[in-house]
Amino acid sequence: MRWDHLAENPVTARDAALFGAEAVTTRTFDTPEFRGMTFHEIRARSIVNRVPGASRMPFEWTVNPYRGCTHACVYCFARRTHSYLDLDTGHDFDSQIVVKVNAPELLRRRLASPRWRGEHIAMGTNVDCYQRAEGRYRLMPGIIAALRDHANPFSILTKGTLILRDLDLVRQAAEVTEVGVSVSVGFTDPELWRTVEPGTPAPERRLDVVRAFAGHGIGCGVLMAPVLPFLSDHPDRLRETVRAIAAAGATSVTPLVLHLRPGAREWYMAWLERHHPHLVRRYERLYAEGAYAPKWYQRQVTRQVHELAEEFGIGPRHAGLPRRTPPPAPAPAERAPQTAPTQLTLL
Ligand code: SF4
Repeated sequence: MRWDHLAENPVTARDAALFGAEAVTTRTFDTPEFRGMTFHEIRARSIVNRVPGASRMPFEWTVNPYRGCTHACVYCFARRTHSYLDLDTGHDFDSQIVVKVNAPELLRRRLASPRWRGEHIAMGTNVDCYQRAEGRYRLMPGIIAALRDHANPFSILTKGTLILRDLDLVRQAAEVTEVGVSVSVGFTDPELWRTVEPGTPAPERRLDVVRAFAGHGIGCGVLMAPVLPFLSDHPDRLRETVRAIAAAGATSVTPLVLHLRPGAREWYMAWLERHHPHLVRRYERLYAEGAYAPKWYQRQVTRQVHELAEEFGIGPRHAGLPRRTPPPAPAPAERAPQTAPTQLTLL
C-alpha cells in the first residue's frame, strides 16, 4: 500500500491540552481509503480508563487506542465524546481521528505496575479498535501481546474484519487467560447497511469473522446492535439476521435496540429525514421520553430474538450440537410486501 504523507503539522498547546497529550501531530494520507480524513497522533498520558460507577456497562476497565471512528455509523452513541475535543459530533467524528500512538507501551507499563490487579479489560466499547485506521497504525498487536504476556483477561467488540489479522495473537492469549470476542451485526439488509454504516465491512464479512474464530476454536458472540425501529425490526428481518448469525457459528446473540443520545440523535434524525422521511414522526413518538425506546418495545424485540436464537440453536444449551439453520429467505423483491408488526403500527 502506498502511504503519501501530505501534511504533518504540530499544533498548539491548547490543542494538546484538549487531546490529553503532550503533543499532537496531524497527518493526512492521499490514498482512496483515507481521503478526507485527518489523523491526530498523540502520545497519551494514560490508556487504561475506569468506567464511571454510574455506568450501565458490565465492565470496569477499558482501553481505547482511538477517538472518533471511520466506520461512520450514523447512530453511533460515541459521537458526543468528540464534542469534548471541540470537534463536531457529525462529520468530524467520522473523519478527525485521534490516534494514541503510544497505547501499547502505556498498557504494558500499567500491566506491570504492582498496583494493577489483573482485572478484565474491555476494548471496542467506546469506538472500534479495528476501524480502518488500525490497518495503518497497527496498535492492536502490541496491545494484545501485552495482555497475553501478562495473562490479563480481556474482551474485544468490533465491526472490523481487520481483527482476523490478529487471530493468532488472540488465540495465543486465549491459551493463558480468559478472552472474549464479539462482533456487532445488527441486521443483514445490504441496502440499510450501505446508508447507515457506510464505513464498515458488510454484515456478511463480519459474520466471516465469527466463522473464522469458531474455526480456530475461539467462541465468538454477536451483539445484534442496534436493532433499528421500523427498519430492521420486522419479524422477517429479525429472523433472517438471527438465521445468518446462527449459520456463522456464533456462541450467543444479544439484541440491543437503538438508543439515541445527544450527539447521535441529531445526526441520525437528519439521516432519517434524508433516507426515510415518512418515519420521522414515528421516531419522534417512539423516542419522545428520551434516549431509549419504551421498555415494552425493547422487551418485544428481545423476546423475538431470544425465541429465534432458541429455534436456530444458539446459546449455551446448544453447545456442541448441530445447528438447525434453514437456507436464507427469498430476496426482498421476491417477498410479499412488508407490514410493520401489529404493536408497532400504534406509533
Ligand atoms: S463501528 Fe462502533 S464505534 Fe465505530 S462508528 Fe460504528 S458504532 Fe461507532
